[in-house]
This record gives sequence, C-alpha cells and structure tokens, in this order.
Amino acid sequence: MMTLTDTTTTTTRDPHLWVPQRKVDDLEWFRRKYAEERDKRLPNTGADTYQAVGFDGDLAAFDADPHATGTRTAPPCTAEVDVLIIGAGFMGMSAGIELTKRGRTDFLILDVAADFGGTWYWNRYPGVRCDVESYVYLPYLEDTGYIPTERYVRGSEIFAYCQSLAKQFDLYERALFQTRVTGMEWDEAAARWIVRTDAGDAVRARFVSTQSGTFSRPQLPGIPGIETFAGHSFHTSRWDYDYTGGDITGNLEKLRDKRVAIIGTGATGVQAIPQLAEYAQSLVVFQRTPTQIAPRENAPTDLEWFRSLPEGWHQARRATFDKCAMDRATADCEVDDGWIKFAKYQLGAIFEAGGAEPTLEQLMDAMERSDYEWNEMLRDRVDAIVEDPEKAEKLKSYYRTMCKRPGFSDDFLPAFNRDSVTIVDTSETPIDRITERGIVVGDHEYEVDLIVFATGFQIGRTWTDRAGYDVVGRDGRILSEKFATGTSTYHGFLSEDFPNLFFLGFVQSTAVSNIANLIDHQARHMVYMIDKCLTEQIKAIQPTSEAEAGWNETIAGHAEMRRDWNRTCTPGQYNNEGRIDDKRSTLVAGLYGPGYEYFDMLQQWREDDRFDGLALTR
Ligand code: NAP
Repeated sequence: MMTLTDTTTTTTRDPHLWVPQRKVDDLEWFRRKYAEERDKRLPNTGADTYQAVGFDGDLAAFDADPHATGTRTAPPCTAEVDVLIIGAGFMGMSAGIELTKRGRTDFLILDVAADFGGTWYWNRYPGVRCDVESYVYLPYLEDTGYIPTERYVRGSEIFAYCQSLAKQFDLYERALFQTRVTGMEWDEAAARWIVRTDAGDAVRARFVSTQSGTFSRPQLPGIPGIETFAGHSFHTSRWDYDYTGGDITGNLEKLRDKRVAIIGTGATGVQAIPQLAEYAQSLVVFQRTPTQIAPRENAPTDLEWFRSLPEGWHQARRATFDKCAMDRATADCEVDDGWIKFAKYQLGAIFEAGGAEPTLEQLMDAMERSDYEWNEMLRDRVDAIVEDPEKAEKLKSYYRTMCKRPGFSDDFLPAFNRDSVTIVDTSETPIDRITERGIVVGDHEYEVDLIVFATGFQIGRTWTDRAGYDVVGRDGRILSEKFATGTSTYHGFLSEDFPNLFFLGFVQSTAVSNIANLIDHQARHMVYMIDKCLTEQIKAIQPTSEAEAGWNETIAGHAEMRRDWNRTCTPGQYNNEGRIDDKRSTLVAGLYGPGYEYFDMLQQWREDDRFDGLALTR
C-alpha cells in the first residue's frame, strides 16, 4: 500500500495504542494521497456547501426551540443600563460574572434561548459531552468549588452547571430570555446604544457586549429538496426527543422501528452516531470526510486528586493545556490527553531531528513526518476495530491533524460493526438531493423515516450574518458594510465608528483548542475596559484608525503564514471550505498566533493601563 519502514518487531494492533508503531519513509506518497483526497472533495464544497437556517423562510422550522416551554411573558423593556450583554452562553455569563466581581451590577443579559448555557442550552443530542477535559473546560471551578463528575462530562451536567453558576452570581435577575436582538444604533449625543428586539424592547446601554453564538445557529447542507422530505427531520442542536424517545444518555426506544439517516461526521456526528446505531432499526451514515478518531479515555473524577489541587490550579492548568496543545511547548503537560499526546509526539520528533535548536527545515520535516506517523497509527486503529474492511477503508482520514478538529471516541468506530449500520461515502459522488422519501446519491435513493442533520453551525459566515442583526454606528456607519470585505477590529474587541461595542469570540482573536479559556480572557479584558471607563467617566472608546489598521495588518500576517497550510488542508470549517481567500469569514480571515501569546499581549496592555490605540471621548 505504501512505503514505510517498520521499526518495530511487533505486529500487534492494539486499538488503544498511543505510540505510532511505524516510521514514515516516503513523504511523497502521503503528500500525493492527501492531495488526492482533498481534490476529490473540493468540487463538492465551496460557496454552496451550506445553507443557513434563518429566523424565517422555508427552513425556519429547523431553528425552532424544542426545549422552551411557553414564550416570553415579560413586557417590553426600555430600561437604561451600563452594559447590555447579548448572549447567555459561557461568554455572556463570564461577562456578567466579571462585572459582578467588580461590583458593576447594572447590566442586562439577552438571549433568544429560554435559559443560560448557549451551546449547552441548544446542544442536547444523545451522547453530547465536552471534548476537552472538563477540568480545563468548565469555567469558575475554583469560585464554585464544583467537582465535575467525570473527565469528559455530559452536556446535561454542563448545562446544569451553567444554571447553578447563574444562580450563584445572581444572573437570572438580570436576564431576559426568548428575546432576539433585531438591531442597534448609536446615539452620539447621549453616548448610548439603543438595542431593539423582536419583543419590542428598546434598551439603552453605555456598553454592549456581543458574542454571536458560535455553536448555536444551525446550518444545513446546500442540498436541494430538504423541505420536501415527508418523513421527520431535525438538526442535532434541536434534537426532538418526542420523536426519538430517550434523552441525552441514550435510550432512543422510539427509533426501534425507524430507518434513520444522519448527514455529517464531525465532532457532533461522532458523538451522536453510536446512540442512533444502538436504537435505530437501521442507520445510514452519509459521510463526506472522516473525522480522525483517537481513544476517548473518559473516567470518573479522582476525588482525592481533585481535592488535593492547590489554590490557583485552574488558571494554571488551563494555561498549560493551551501551551501544550497549541504550540508544542515543553511545559509540563499535566493534562496528557489526546491533544497533548499528539503534541508531545511531534515535539519528540522535532527534538530527534534537530535537538533543542532545530533548523526551520528540520522542524517542518519532523512535524510533517510525525503527523503522518500519528495518522498511520489512527488508521491502524480503524482496521483493528472495524471488522468490515470496506467500511474500515471509508472511515480512515487522510489529512494533516488540525486540518479538522480531532475526534476522540471509544464507541464511534465499534458502532459500524453492527449490520444495521451502513456508511455512504459522499466524497466523490455527493448527495444529489433530498426527496419526499429520502436521500439520493448517484442513482440510489436511500428511503428513510428520519433524517438527522449533524451539519454544524454558521461559523464561516460574516459577523452580521451570524449575529442575525445589523448595527448603525457613528455618523450612520453600517457594520455589515464595514465588514463586507472582512472583519476589522483592534485586538479583536473594538471597531472604529462603533464605540463601546465589544466583539467577543473568534473575531480577529486567537486560535485555541479550549474555547472556554479564550472566553475567560476576553471577558476579563472587556470588563477591565468597561470598568475603567465607568470609573474615569470616559463616555466612549473606539480604536484609532492607525491602531485598527495595525491590528488588521498583524492578523493578515498571521493569515498569510497559515495560507499554505490552509491550502493543502482538506476543505472544512477551519479553511472556510477551501475558500481561503474569502476574507469575510471571521474564522479564516485571521486569528492571532498561539493563544497564550495573545493572552500575554492583552495582559500587558491592561497592565500598561493607558488604553493604547484607543480614542477616548470624555
Ligand atoms: P462540523 O464540524 O461543521 O461538521 C459538519 C459535518 O457535516 C461535516 O462532517 C461535513 O462534512 C458534513 N457535511 C456538510 N455538508 C455535507 C454534505 N452535503 N454531504 C455530506 N456531509 C456533509 O459540525 P459539528 O460536528 O456540529 O461540529 C462543530 C463544532 O462544534 C466542532 O468543530 C467543535 O468545535 C464543536 N463541537 C464540540 C463538541 C464538544 O465539545 N463535545 C461536540 C460537538 C461539536 P465535511 O467534513 O466533509 O465538511
């Protein structure tokens, strides 16, 4: 199959092995194979890959909230507050908590959902868990004293934790749920934002914090006919347990006599497929690109260990995880999960090639080689677990690690050993259409009762598309027009002509494996700015043109550095489905370098305490 030098004497194929058993000899073979796999998929992606689920229109039913009981009863609100926080997920909650910690409690949190939780409010599909360990993922663990029950806890535990955090920090009394922002405009004379909603609210706020739902606005594949399907269908983030039976732990008993299809094998598909496979009469998995699957290694929390953790452990563990996972740093990587194991393997290879100070060439060569070796190990693991060689071949991924989010699961691959589970590879022959009866690929129609869309979220769209509203800033400047050719901010937080409006999330910020840590840093940074303005009676802040241009240049420089990598990657969320020159996508338009460098830079800026790069209105 390929030229490899077997450096071991063992032929054992342990499905849980973590150390690559073979050294890669022929880099060219892998380069060719990976390019072939990418090129196969490229024509089936691009601009039409997805269609957004709108608040109205044909597909709006896919956005309906299956979790809420009743609708908002609160009358329209015309209050004036210091801070309006849009979004009640981790980001909005952290903003509220950080404000509260500074004694600033004049804020209001709005969310279209009916409770706190954001991602964890919406995503309640069976099998959902966090995919970085809960000890670094869950926020405020030292404040609350909460002990996660497992290394990777269920989504229901995270959702419940969000509710308890909101109670502990009195956030419920400052929240308006089932409320969708429809627009906002800046009142220069009063130095206030007027934020309007679909419930008739017109809230006036000195500062507005926005976090536009990274994993809450669903998207569907760009396939014709979705609305013509006569069976049942839903997106994974709007799971219909009335139809499937069961709950987040499984027990989907009502599927026993149902023919089910699922489209998508990303991080969500990987978690939901084992549950569907266990209960459905039959399951057809439509897969365009396989996710790389490493062992999960979940375990109950060791209480003795947890209770022995010293003060300050949480921040320290989060920082170490970021460093180890993102930059292959030599820090003591106490987390030691799949992310870190891969990073350590690469680090070992680099050291082997060039010692402590490798040349750039040695570094690049070692990283490429060790990546192939790592993936050979994971492909061997597929062969060891999946009994049917044809299915196994389809489940092997051929792209560099980090072209897509790595998957970790102990029950995904075994699910394909059930005779009732089929896999349809749509990499070359895409899904043609959805009909009244089912899904058509080539000349075959797969008739099913239920279609589950595990097709992700509207991450690759422009900021205003994702947010679902537009913003009118100083002198009537329209945000969607300003961002029409690309996002433009200072440090990812503020944009000229839109004073006191903060953009949090993946907006010219940084790439991290643990998004919860990014949120934590962003909330603290934003609240520092708001607190300083309120204390020093600064009415408005916005970046100077020079500062914003400088940050755009920095971000563009980082994007340029990643350009070649993005080009060679298989199409996906991280490279904007292969559209690497489309600068409108907030994710691909550019992020700063490693998370910890970005966080250090922000911290230094706060310590300087000069509001460098900002123009102030007093
Ligand atoms: P996703 O990564 O965007 O995956 C979408 C899936 O749909 C991909 O497998 C994609 O195939 C497939 N797809 C789209 N159009 C298709 C078509 N026409 N035919 C066949 N397949 C099609 O979405 P996700 O799995 O929901 O994950 C989104 C993000 O949420 C992840 O990156 C992760 O950060 C986060 N997440 C986290 C957790 C966790 O922490 N536990 C769990 C789930 C998700 P291609 O790969 O070929 O594009």
